[in-house]
Amino acid sequence: MKLHEYQAKELFGNAGIPIPNGHLVTSADQATKVTQLINGPPWVIKAQIHAGGRGKGGGVRLVHYPYEVITAAEQLLGKPLVTKQTSSDGVIVNQVLIEEGMEIDREFYLGMLIDRSSYSPTMIFSQSGGMEIEEVAANSPELILREHINPVTGWMPHQARNLIYRLSPLPSPLAIKGLMSVMARVYNVFMDNDCSLVEINPLVITKGGKVIALDAKITIDDNALFRQKELLKLDDPKEKDPLELMAEKYQLNYVRLEGNVGAMVNGAGLAMATMDVIKMAGAEPANFLDVGGGASEEMITKGVEIILMDRRVKAILINIFGGILRCDILARGVLAAARERRIRLPLIVRLEGTNVEEGREILRNSDLKFLVARDLVEAAELVAKQVRGTG
Ligand code: ADP
Ligand code: MG
Repeated sequence: MKLHEYQAKELFGNAGIPIPNGHLVTSADQATKVTQLINGPPWVIKAQIHAGGRGKGGGVRLVHYPYEVITAAEQLLGKPLVTKQTSSDGVIVNQVLIEEGMEIDREFYLGMLIDRSSYSPTMIFSQSGGMEIEEVAANSPELILREHINPVTGWMPHQARNLIYRLSPLPSPLAIKGLMSVMARVYNVFMDNDCSLVEINPLVITKGGKVIALDAKITIDDNALFRQKELLKLDDPKEKDPLELMAEKYQLNYVRLEGNVGAMVNGAGLAMATMDVIKMAGAEPANFLDVGGGASEEMITKGVEIILMDRRVKAILINIFGGILRCDILARGVLAAARERRIRLPLIVRLEGTNVEEGREILRNSDLKFLVARDLVEAAELVAKQVRGTG
């Protein structure tokens, strides 16, 4: 579960990590009053969406007059913002954060995540802050410093010194103290909230020598949400893909992808394999959809409906290995969906397993037009042909 910048900053503030003074607004009208409460000029107006890269995408505005705060809020609110991390349609901005503009002397990157190779929480620090860390990692990996953390001892002050004393030039003693404090507190935030990611990019030293988190990104581990009930309230369903939201409601594992072959499969492993075979046949999957082992007829129907709602889908591949989910249930679910919405797209079906004959019979006796594949490879080739328009 991702948090917005303003939510992450609230957690930072509570944990003693310095943040700029700021207020959230949802309409430009609120901006006038809020601006009076915040030190400035300058002020910074920041679109609150879950994607990063807002600075370069025009979602972070620095202004010098109060009326410009209102104009900037008006320009951002209610409109889609496109950044490198969003789709080309962008994401609608529903809230903006108005903050005091800080005078930046130096920018750093500070992040914490679980490093899978060392099985430990790991602090990542770089003096190339403000930039995308992936680019720094690719072009100058020596600028990225890491400290693995033993969860038994926790974050140790010498680890902070390992990172900070490699900086050139060395920050002032006051700034070093500030950096050490932020590092220790980032570890606390990470552990206390069951995070999978905490990221401050940039963490800055201001011209006055203070250390402040100018950006904040937090992802909470979904598997820990059962014991993080307070954090659950911070979930923002507006940020989710509407089809993914609908799938969640029916307990379907659905992830939207960039291609045009809609795929419905039972079992995550089979779904991955199906996506691979679709790609090998020269096509691209439009989604990952695992209806799960024990899917009901209704879940199948909803699954097909979700695929049909995705306008980019040009052909549908249903690949079911019937076990607990019987092939006849699958067939009835597909037919129910076809009754709701006419399926005009080519449908390729590959069924195997429990009640397969009954399932095939139901499909054959329907007026649904579909192609049957003997095996997965043939199914993928058929579907690839269909989306290429040569089928
Ligand atoms: P994103 O990572 O989505 O681009 P950031 O919050 O990092 O958004 O903002 C982009 C840039 O804007 C930062 O690198 C920083 O230089 C500047 N910035 C952000 N907040 C402030 C602020 N309160 N005062 C001054 N500059 C800021
Ligand atoms: Mg940033």
